[in-house]
Amino acid sequence: MASGEDHVYEALRTIVGDPFVSRDREELYMYSRDPGASIPRSADWVVLPSTTDEVQKIVILARDMKVPVVPISGGLTLSGLAVPVKGGIVMDMRRMDRIIEVNERSRYVVVESGVSQGKLLSFLKENYPMLRHSMPDAPPSASVVGNTLIYGSGHLSKHGAHSEMINGLEVVLGDGEVLRLGSCALSPYWFGRGPLPDLVSLFVNWFGTTGIVTRLSLKLYPSHPLRDMLIFLVQDPKTIPQAVSMITSTDMMEDVLIVASRPPKAPSVISLLTVYLTAETHEELDFKKELFVDMFKDFGQEGSRMVFTPKEMLPQKLIHGFMEEPQYAAATADFKKGGGFEYVGVVLPLSKVPVAWKMGEEIARKHGFDPLYTVRNVGLGHGVVFAFAYPFNRADEESLQRSRDALADTNDMALELGGTPWKSELEGQAKIMARMDPVVLSVMDGIKRVMDPGGIMNPGNWKHG
Ligand SMILES: Cc1cc2nc3c(=O)[nH]c(=O)nc-3n(C[C@H](O)[C@H](O)[C@H](O)COP(=O)(O)OP(=O)(O)OC[C@H]3O[C@@H](n4cnc5c(N)ncnc54)[C@H](O)[C@@H]3O)c2cc1C
Repeated sequence: MASGEDHVYEALRTIVGDPFVSRDREELYMYSRDPGASIPRSADWVVLPSTTDEVQKIVILARDMKVPVVPISGGLTLSGLAVPVKGGIVMDMRRMDRIIEVNERSRYVVVESGVSQGKLLSFLKENYPMLRHSMPDAPPSASVVGNTLIYGSGHLSKHGAHSEMINGLEVVLGDGEVLRLGSCALSPYWFGRGPLPDLVSLFVNWFGTTGIVTRLSLKLYPSHPLRDMLIFLVQDPKTIPQAVSMITSTDMMEDVLIVASRPPKAPSVISLLTVYLTAETHEELDFKKELFVDMFKDFGQEGSRMVFTPKEMLPQKLIHGFMEEPQYAAATADFKKGGGFEYVGVVLPLSKVPVAWKMGEEIARKHGFDPLYTVRNVGLGHGVVFAFAYPFNRADEESLQRSRDALADTNDMALELGGTPWKSELEGQAKIMARMDPVVLSVMDGIKRVMDPGGIMNPGNWKHG
């Protein structure tokens, strides 16, 4: 008679076909970790479904066999959120990579869970050049769905965090039921979430613990033919709240991003504030540039200015990085040699940026790092996503541990400042829950019990008690 483990394996093969299920150690190894500093943990099986029907069958199997099921789309979260901490099935969504529909007039796209950021970007460029989505700075293999479900932020963050750009979802629940949420619950159109009771939120920032999203409708935005950016050297971080407030009050930028890092060979950390601009005509672009350059001409005292730095004065490689694939913070980690980096992201009110900056600097120095920050405006100055990053060498356990210790201190500091940690690893989640209003905590617990009575959906995350 087949053991329980063999039964699960055979059943998965029947559902998806032999090439799309594995229990080989080499393949499980790839799913036991992400590029961040979390402790690895192996799954027992990995499976790659290609349809919602297959996802449904796998979830029902997991429920019946009482084994955990962990969805992974791009696997690039960096904080271990798709690491199978209790083993079981890792469900890799990458075969579900169809772009189902673009509605040009109502400006939305419906994608399957495995569609990558890079795929959507090039598809829109080729077929709908007048439309774009908000691209994060994550590698292009990060998925649209994974990033959107966890409060991603990107180049159009003046419209809010990516989770706020969701129009609707198709979700497989822990009992195998399929739900369609948003306007698509009533009609063939996926144009919005309201005015209905908002059930989409039950799957946003829950890290796959309430259901597996198979389709998502995302808002698209106009794409203008001209793009440029203005770079200002930040002399004093205390001026950032006022500067971001002034920039966003014009509503004429696409994004405001501040990066602080020590470039290779540079003697000290430099902080650059970048304003991203787009326009229909050269006149419009010139007008916007002039407006922002003028705005900062008489800003601040000597030594605390925002110094306009023409792009031509900066290395071309850096400029290309900022405009096309802004991954400057990641450049400090040598991935090819086993390096990595992890960050604690925290959503903060703008006014808290200077104090977070200073405290982050102390934490970084304490653990032997240079401060390495990205601070992105969200909305029109409604908040920032502040990321404190710590690179490490994976082959060196001491260096990994230093990153983990710095992350832990940064989580404490972020909570102390009244911030909300972003896509926290398990330890960070525990700290959040320890501070949470107990009534909210018990409602969360109740929701999880209803959505996932068997406790099989990405267990360990948002664990109460
Ligand atoms: C160099 C670098 C730069 C980065 N810059 C940014 C940035 O600018 N902005 C930003 O937002 N992020 C950034 N990130 C972080 C990260 O890459 C993204 O947030 C990433 O896009 C997450 O998407 P993913 O597809 O990798 O998600 P995954 O890691 O696959 O999943 C994320 C979480 O969602 C769950 N999940 C995945 N798929 C589903 C599903 N179908 N249904 C339900 N739950 C699911 C997983 O279980 C997990 O808990 C960066 C990362 C790197 C390495």
